[in-house]
Amino acid sequence: MLGKLAKKLRMFGFDCMYNSSIDDESIISLAKIESRVIITMDSNLAINAMKRDILVIKPENHTEKEQLIEIAKKMNFKKFELQYSHCSLCNGKLNIILEDQILEKIPPMIRRHTRNFWQCDECMHIFWEGSHIKNMKKLVGEINARL
Ligand SMILES: [Zn+2]
Repeated sequence: MLGKLAKKLRMFGFDCMYNSSIDDESIISLAKIESRVIITMDSNLAINAMKRDILVIKPENHTEKEQLIEIAKKMNFKKFELQYSHCSLCNGKLNIILEDQILEKIPPMIRRHTRNFWQCDECMHIFWEGSHIKNMKKLVGEINARL
């Protein structure tokens, strides 16, 4: 349910696990072991995790932008910034990759417009600053203006 939110948080540089198919008990023990914050809309999960002294954020808003603002305020983040550190798809680490190492994987149109590429060390997906980044930058600006 919060999968899209997880993607955004990864783009902001956060190590953010998302798994919709594990049970509450596994989520709680993982959070405990790895000192993670749980972000959930599920009241039962939130209550059970809080009982185990885990920091829980249960957004009250339903739009992504408002949820991100709530998270930033709860965590005392002064601003969000786009980072290229975590894969938005799988949370793997992103590494800068040189264009000539991946020539055949990048459409020529893209190569004409961008020079910066990153590759995920887990799923091997290649990222570049495409048009969606413009929308992300706009969103970041709107959020930061309210923090
Ligand atoms: Zn990945």
